[in-house]
Amino acid sequence: MNKWLFTVTNNLPEGKSTNNEIRADIMEHFFLRELAELAIIGPAKAQLLKDELGLQTCEDLLKKFPFRYEDRTKHVRVAELNTNTTGVYLHGYIRNLQKREQGKKRLMALFEDETGRIELIWFQNFSWVVKKLKPNVHYRIWGKPMWTAEGKIQFIHPEVSMVSENHQNRCSLLPLYPTTEKLKRNQLDSKGMALLQKKILLAHQNEFQETLPTYLLTKYRLMDLKEAFLNIHFPDNEQLLKQAQRRLKFEELFYIQLKLFKIKQIRLEKQDSKPFKDLSLFNEFYQHHLPFSLTHGQKEALRDMYRDLRSGKQMNRLLQGDVGSGKTIVAFLAMLIILGSEAQVAIMAPTEVLAKQHYARFVAFARQVNVHVALLTGSTKKKEREHMLYQLKTGILHIIVGTHAILNEKVSFKELGFFVVDEQHRFGVAQRAGLLAKNQSYVPHILIMTATPIPRTLAMTFYGDLEVSTIHDLPEGRKAIQTKHFYENARLHVWQFIREQLALGRQAYIVYPLIEESAVLDYANLFAGYESITRDFPGVPIGVVHGKMDAVSKELEMGRFERMETRILVATTVIEVGINVPNATVMVVESAERFGLAQLHQLRGRVGRGKEQSYCILMTDYRLNQVAKKRIETMVRTTNGFEIAEIDLKLRGPGDLTGLQQSGMLNLKIADLSTDATILEEARVCAKQIIQQDPDFQLPHHLPISQEYARLLTVSGSWSTIG
Ligand code: ADP
Ligand code: MG
Repeated sequence: MNKWLFTVTNNLPEGKSTNNEIRADIMEHFFLRELAELAIIGPAKAQLLKDELGLQTCEDLLKKFPFRYEDRTKHVRVAELNTNTTGVYLHGYIRNLQKREQGKKRLMALFEDETGRIELIWFQNFSWVVKKLKPNVHYRIWGKPMWTAEGKIQFIHPEVSMVSENHQNRCSLLPLYPTTEKLKRNQLDSKGMALLQKKILLAHQNEFQETLPTYLLTKYRLMDLKEAFLNIHFPDNEQLLKQAQRRLKFEELFYIQLKLFKIKQIRLEKQDSKPFKDLSLFNEFYQHHLPFSLTHGQKEALRDMYRDLRSGKQMNRLLQGDVGSGKTIVAFLAMLIILGSEAQVAIMAPTEVLAKQHYARFVAFARQVNVHVALLTGSTKKKEREHMLYQLKTGILHIIVGTHAILNEKVSFKELGFFVVDEQHRFGVAQRAGLLAKNQSYVPHILIMTATPIPRTLAMTFYGDLEVSTIHDLPEGRKAIQTKHFYENARLHVWQFIREQLALGRQAYIVYPLIEESAVLDYANLFAGYESITRDFPGVPIGVVHGKMDAVSKELEMGRFERMETRILVATTVIEVGINVPNATVMVVESAERFGLAQLHQLRGRVGRGKEQSYCILMTDYRLNQVAKKRIETMVRTTNGFEIAEIDLKLRGPGDLTGLQQSGMLNLKIADLSTDATILEEARVCAKQIIQQDPDFQLPHHLPISQEYARLLTVSGSWSTIG
């Protein structure tokens, strides 16, 4: 399976210290010590930490960073509290302690300073509070003010300490840790977690092994590792905290980049593939059958690919280009280079609809040059499939178009020379490695195509080991789609506009949001919409498609629209991919505020596929939240998919990286690809230079890198899944 990982492991830096020495070092590294073995934690707590938060080693714990910090440097006066106040300190006296025993038990007290009074309330566990609190002692309390209906200010469960205690002095920014109910019940609330962190840090403070060479620390102005850990957990001030974060983010991203470059370097050195140089078939098609002339971007992409394909080293290339930029024909032309040397090619699409569409186009192209194409999907009948498999095995079949079904181990080739992946974001390094099994004698060349432009930071991390070609231009004569935003009061105007377009012979889509294909209310909206559209456009043939229809009916409807038998297609987002009707010039998105940016962009990409001017109309509710507003504004302002992807990432913010985060493929501990682009660029440049200068980390001053690189290979986690 994990073939890359093996390759990398076998290439552990040799040089000054041997692998064995490094391994011995690694095993002693305190980061790898099990929490359960540490006396300061004990087996019971260790078990809880493992069950609740998945923390097993010192490193796991130390890299459970605070999610927020509270500034406890300043205290305010009662009179200064306002509804915007979050957590604050107050200094004053506690009076009038009252326990209520009947009904719901509670403890109440008055707290006052020279400017006013507030109420303190405890609902549970207050016996210790009663014991601790004394009248006429100067206290400091921490909490968040709440206002009662009568305008009284209350602090619920405030933290209380004597002003003279001052034990928090060293740590002015209080770290807050993620925790769970169960942990809280076992003294591992945020405070308890902080205490653990402190204990571990103190116990091991002399064992931190710097993971970056000194010259890099200087060059990039990075704090050293131990300081960074101390300051990320217990920062003295904002500035030190920032420096600590920067250092740790840099390191995290640096090692990911280093690994990606390493994979790439090994591939370039070792991964021999077959050189494909024969252009006769390519030229025949290019000169006599190409239905249009290629755009500059398409030509460039082809040149990039031919350079790779003829090199004898495996091509691993990402082809980026906005919806409609014409990636398919580029892939087809590249395929002809492979077919020219008698090898076979496969192209995989994410859905059956899309696979069929590719198939239809390829058959039309291929006929001209006598190339044999077949379609293999999950619904291919057994007999047909077996015949196909036989033809693939014997080399009679040249191009196989399909869905994931073609990855099935039963599918084997006479000689698979080229594998194309269309629209597959999650086709990462590991999946690519899986393809190697498809060809015994050499590794097939790989092309990954994507129309959902990925933000640069994601591309650099997820596809960081790939070469990239980008098609920036659209085919000649394509007019930029005009996008407008309207509220319900413009409905008649919008309908009138559609009538005009229909009168010009064009077609229109009207899309309803179906966030979950099962949501009853959404279906009600869709059908109500369909009915009113039928009433409003008498005599116009109207079709409807949605996710609950079976595949056959769905296709029937889409087919009718493609053949102009229907003029308006009322649909859910099932049409997001895989429909190509150049005559459709209007895309109306209903309740557009409910769609994400990427989805809106995809939907808009369904129009503007022909020569005519196309339009995208976003209908929204009158009330829009900030994020929705920004999305709509962005859509109206730009058609640039790359720009849209960047904004999308910012709006989604940390923790929501297009499903990648959830899939565990990019489980970053501290860096955030939506905000840390600058650090990522730096780390990437730095990693690249090191791989170029010293690919096996043999230089003496790269010892920290060789050690950390080796250590990372031994621990599981986000880093190792990259391989
Ligand atoms: P995408 O990049 O979104 O996959 P496609 O490959 O589906 O785009 O191409 C979109 C449409 O543009 C297709 O109908 C295709 O035939 C057409 N097309 C591609 N390249 C050109 C070109 N250079 N000139 C004119 N039309 C083109
Ligand atoms: Mg495409």
